[in-house]
Amino acid sequence: MAMRIAVVGAGAMGSLFGGKLSAGAEVTLLDPWAEHVAAMQRDGLRITELDGGETITPVTATVDSSAVPGVDLVIIFVKAHATRQASQWASDFLASDGLALTLQNGVGNAETMAEVLGAERVVAGVTSHGATLLGPGRVRHAGKGPTHIAARPEIAEKLADVAAVFERAGFEVYLSDDLDSLVWGKLIINVGINALTGILRVPNGQLVEIPAASELMAQAVAEAVAVCQAKGVALPYDDPLGRVQEVARATATNRASMLQDVLRGVPTEIGVINEAIVREGKRLGVFTPVNGFIVTTIRAIEGSYAVRVS
Ligand code: NAD
Repeated sequence: MAMRIAVVGAGAMGSLFGGKLSAGAEVTLLDPWAEHVAAMQRDGLRITELDGGETITPVTATVDSSAVPGVDLVIIFVKAHATRQASQWASDFLASDGLALTLQNGVGNAETMAEVLGAERVVAGVTSHGATLLGPGRVRHAGKGPTHIAARPEIAEKLADVAAVFERAGFEVYLSDDLDSLVWGKLIINVGINALTGILRVPNGQLVEIPAASELMAQAVAEAVAVCQAKGVALPYDDPLGRVQEVARATATNRASMLQDVLRGVPTEIGVINEAIVREGKRLGVFTPVNGFIVTTIRAIEGSYAVRVS
């Protein structure tokens, strides 16, 4: 029997994964954005593939969580601020022995999901795929790479089934014994780039061009590395700041998601990125004043959306 899957949050990443998984599983996409859901139902999901060609995939999509059938696997792909709500919806249709997978960025989503769904049903992962929404029913596959999911011996068989479904859909999947290394490795890059682009309103590359911005980046990254050391997380690279600078240069013209959020006046994912460093720092006795300042500044920007002058 085909695996039954619900993707909760069918934006850029949720549509991409949901569309591709639909070929080999019974997939339902759940998203409150009515225009997008209507377009997918009517015309299928249009994916601009990595080679520039377009594919159209028939998908089942809904705005109504009560219309989602019982499923074996939920994939949460909302932005971090909606993870609790998405988990509450998932609790209505996820089988009692099913799994809820997060491939979101940051640290803290899995913990929020576990509070609602129970830790035994929650699995964390990290993906190198990227996607951009082009409009209702339309998404661009922006980049590809491996997807790593945390291995858990007690649910090895279920995870092997999940990996097989992903592989059949064209995703390269690994079950990892040291997911923390990958999650924190990706987090440190986001800590160094994402929020600073939102505060300064610059594309990624400017963070290594403007000397004072580079200094902030270096300090934020150094605090995050100290937190990783205190946690005993071995990062997947030797020179963290060098790696962050390299990514900023390689993506020089990109507008990071937090910059896009700030420009659109929507909540950012600060709570699972720089704030995760502050939270863990507090727990472990590591001083993180620069990340604390960055968090408060982004929170102030979010608070100013309704009244700011342009
Ligand atoms: P997105 O904004 O394109 O999509 C999020 C979707 O969630 C939207 O369509 C929104 O309508 C929907 N939503 C909001 N509240 C909801 C709720 N309560 N229940 C269900 N759906 C809800 O975001 P995205 O770029 O796809 O990112 C999703 C996650 O994946 C984020 O954590 C992001 O950091 C991570 N991520 C993104 C990329 C990328 O390239 N876009 C790459 C790796 C990881």
